[in-house]
Amino acid sequence: MTAVSAHAPQPPAETGLAASLTAVERQRILAKSALFAPPTGMLPDGRRDLIGLSREELTEALVAIGEKPFRTKQVWHWLYHQGVTDFARMSSIAKPLQAKLAEQFVIGRPEAATVQTSTDETRKFLFRFRDGQEAETVYIPDRREDRGAVCISSQVGCTLSCTFCHTGTQKLVRNLGAAEIVGQFMAARDSYGEWPSPRGETPRLLSTIVLMGMGEPLYNYENVAKAMKIVMDGEGIGLSRRRITLSTSGVVPMMDQCGSELGINLAISLHAVRNDLRDEIVPLNRKYPIEELIAACRRYPAASNARRITFEYIMLRGVNDSEADARELVRLIAGIPAKVNLIPFNPWPGSAYQPSTREQLAKFAQIVMDAGFASPIRMPRGRDILAACGQLRTESQRERRGLPA
Ligand code: SF4
Repeated sequence: MTAVSAHAPQPPAETGLAASLTAVERQRILAKSALFAPPTGMLPDGRRDLIGLSREELTEALVAIGEKPFRTKQVWHWLYHQGVTDFARMSSIAKPLQAKLAEQFVIGRPEAATVQTSTDETRKFLFRFRDGQEAETVYIPDRREDRGAVCISSQVGCTLSCTFCHTGTQKLVRNLGAAEIVGQFMAARDSYGEWPSPRGETPRLLSTIVLMGMGEPLYNYENVAKAMKIVMDGEGIGLSRRRITLSTSGVVPMMDQCGSELGINLAISLHAVRNDLRDEIVPLNRKYPIEELIAACRRYPAASNARRITFEYIMLRGVNDSEADARELVRLIAGIPAKVNLIPFNPWPGSAYQPSTREQLAKFAQIVMDAGFASPIRMPRGRDILAACGQLRTESQRERRGLPA
């Protein structure tokens, strides 16, 4: 099925008062996000982690130990193209400098506390960071081809309490830093030995990133953006922006910035088409209702027929899966270059919902397809290891006092 035309008239980007209100709201979100900041990349012994630094910061760090700025390119290549974790393996760098770098810096990776591989080859990593906090990362191989998606977490826990989501039952502990976000991808790649970074048309096993793990990435925008810029840098990992998808529950004020600054693909956790129901399932809807969310999708700069916005829709029996819901869904997204991922609900211990029946799933999908939208039913992967959508959760607890809920 092809998507609807991308040439339908698009509303203009916000102007005047609306734009300045959005800017104020964006500042508020960034200020709140800073309250949950990750620890710095400095180790107790005074060495600094080089992973997660922007190129400019890497240059500053090297200049600060008396090196010339041209070293940045060389070190960047070893960190992100070759993927080394030991300065002694940087063979184009003289041994005395290797030793000096090792005295001042480290090349960090999160520790894989557990690694579980499902019967369907999905692999779930529980990564432990330097302060002991943990987050989960899932690699989902494409069974037909040598490629796959890495589902990355952006926060430890989540503030949003979507009712179908196991992660939402875990309070937000803190944001993940850029090093920890890039580090999940790099450590997953270590596990598959996929270094140096494949170039050009060479197939990649870990070929796409989906920011769909624990947390709301647009509530940790600055760290996520920094990490994605590192991942996209053509002299390192070099993953194209077309191969990265950020999934949001609908943090409308940050969506425009994400589109214009990063230009990555967008997925929306929609899950309901009426505000009364979405207020309940995705409580963030009370702040940014469906109309505002859909308007932000219509003006999302990186969307086109070739790069459609994905609407994620979890199918909950008797709750959001009626034919009337399907018809309202296609009315809402008419004119947006979009596809709809229908996700059978994966029950988790204590969840209140049931998955839709196969018949209802098929009827819903048919209505969406008949309206011209691709609507694949996403088969749950890694169910036996609780790695499927909405099932991620760790035992990390919020320890610091005085943080807002
Ligand atoms: S679906 Fe995403 S935003 Fe909602 S509670 Fe789960 S992790 Fe948070």
